[in-house]
Amino acid sequence: MKYTSFKLAAITACISTAFSCQKNTTVSTESDPEIPNVIFILADDLGYGDLGCYGSSCNRTPNLDNLARLGIRFTDSYAAASICSPSRAALLTGRYPLRMGINGVFFPESFSGIDTSEVTIAEALHKAGYYTGIVGKWHLGHHHAFLPLQNGFDEYFGIPYSNDMRSVVYMRGNSVESWTVDQTLLTKTYTGEALAFIEKNKERPFFLYLAHNMPHVPLFASAGFSGKSANGLYGDVIEELDWSVGEIMKKLESLGLLENTLVVFSSDNGPWLTEGPHGGSPGQLFQGKFTSWEGGQRVPTIAFWKGKINPGVYPGVTSLMDWYPTLISLAGLENPGNRMLDGMDLSNVLLGNGKRQTDDFYYIGGGNIQAFRSGDFKMILPQAMKKGNFWVEDVPAHDTLLFNLKEDIGEKNDLSKTEYAKIAEMSAKIQEFRKSLENVPPGLIMNDRSAEEATNKARKILVEQALSQGKKPKGGI
Ligand code: MG
Repeated sequence: MKYTSFKLAAITACISTAFSCQKNTTVSTESDPEIPNVIFILADDLGYGDLGCYGSSCNRTPNLDNLARLGIRFTDSYAAASICSPSRAALLTGRYPLRMGINGVFFPESFSGIDTSEVTIAEALHKAGYYTGIVGKWHLGHHHAFLPLQNGFDEYFGIPYSNDMRSVVYMRGNSVESWTVDQTLLTKTYTGEALAFIEKNKERPFFLYLAHNMPHVPLFASAGFSGKSANGLYGDVIEELDWSVGEIMKKLESLGLLENTLVVFSSDNGPWLTEGPHGGSPGQLFQGKFTSWEGGQRVPTIAFWKGKINPGVYPGVTSLMDWYPTLISLAGLENPGNRMLDGMDLSNVLLGNGKRQTDDFYYIGGGNIQAFRSGDFKMILPQAMKKGNFWVEDVPAHDTLLFNLKEDIGEKNDLSKTEYAKIAEMSAKIQEFRKSLENVPPGLIMNDRSAEEATNKARKILVEQALSQGKKPKGGI
């Protein structure tokens, strides 16, 4: 592919000019090579070990591998939560979801959604002159006030919830466009919408958030990919997602937009391991979705910007929340909100000028701090036994744990009984961080209790039916 052939010399020339930008409140409505378009591609439940460039030997992902080779591959990038809604809220606001009361996932029965007072990245860029669009999964509430068009997006097409929840419909704008969805065409449909969006906006700055529903269960691939991979349906789905990335890069190249478009690819959380072959792989990491172990929150993340990004591997800690201040900075804007941001500006990392401000990250689940990473070390706070069920594997009860992730990526060798000084140092930091959480709102009511009970009962029946037929239960209802 031609987008492999950019000149390294161009990188240094651009670094100095990028940082000489004056801070603005609006950007030119015509394309400016120093103000990038942004395409943020988010996979759903993609595991750390699911791409070739992250060690997969069974899923073929040549387009993503190419993007990683020519861009930056982040080895220690964390989703802000181990489940969908909180992670997406954090990506769009640069803030821990706990600060918004989003401590669980929204359901079609939910009354609530992302607080309208939050200033999403789409809202910030829209006010600054970007045309903004989302194609794909929203999962931050479906009542009018919570939908994308009321939260900074000029356009929306996609499924408002996860593809295993009731109300799998295609929405366009604030309305349902189709009450039936052929999920085998889901990735292809989203890709077509994304390509049309890019084509339509080639003459002005744009922000496209392409939030795929795949590879969240139930899995679907189109006829061109079904049965073609070496890793069953899961591999088919990953390879179609990789094809989608390739189509977007080809479109950018054909329109001459590679030099002024930042493309980021990541996942909202780790793989759903209880789905067996329909769940992804955490690679060498321990556990998956729903947990604060590395497999639950460390996700593949790749950034590409032809001629601007300094290609390589970034081994430091980063978070999906970092993209908020990063995109604000790259657009030459001031932070548009008056709220505390948890993300840190990565523009220095992208442009080869430096590192992230710290190597700290807090793992927050169910509204509580569950673990803390600082540099090479991760401290996990005491937790009660979490019994396995349809969703999550058994997580044994444990006292405080400490791991050196650089030497022990699989979190096997507990150092808490010997590294007392490190435990004390990290505990003090956690205490300091807790102070910043004193005024967080109560958790939003996610849905009606009776509806939740009915859902659980229906799931239980489905599981029992599958087991009685000798099948492993998959997908949802
Ligand atoms: Mg997810």
